[in-house]
Amino acid sequence: MPLEGFNCRQCGLCCKLRGAYQNYATDEDYRRWQLEGREDILAFVAVNDLGCDMNGDERRLYNVWVEPGTEIYLDGCPFLLELPDEHKFICSIHDTKPWHCRSFPSEREYAERIGCRGFDATH
Ligand code: SF4
Ligand code: SF4
Repeated sequence: MPLEGFNCRQCGLCCKLRGAYQNYATDEDYRRWQLEGREDILAFVAVNDLGCDMNGDERRLYNVWVEPGTEIYLDGCPFLLELPDEHKFICSIHDTKPWHCRSFPSEREYAERIGCRGFDATH
């Protein structure tokens, strides 16, 4: 559910800022992409093994979005598409985008701090 008063302007800013999409995907995101056979998405994820937790379960960190085959972060998300002649942006993997993206913005204060204008009623 979008936050009250929020209206996305499709400016694409949050998809160009690593701080906004948080640099990592969740276990669920990664498993879903595996089940869906989304090699095109997995190519941009760097998996880091963190060892086992106290219960013996394996822990991993899924860094996004990186240059395929490396751990070098890209400047922005490779799945952001600019609509021709509209100066608007869409997510080309909307149906299976990461949890962080689906939950953005979870707080108005944070959204405004990164420059999101979705709460600005004057535009
Ligand atoms: S920065 Fe805000 S207004 Fe712009 S695309 Fe992201 S959520 Fe929408
Ligand atoms: S996956 Fe989609 S919503 Fe998430 S950062 Fe990329 S373009 Fe934006």
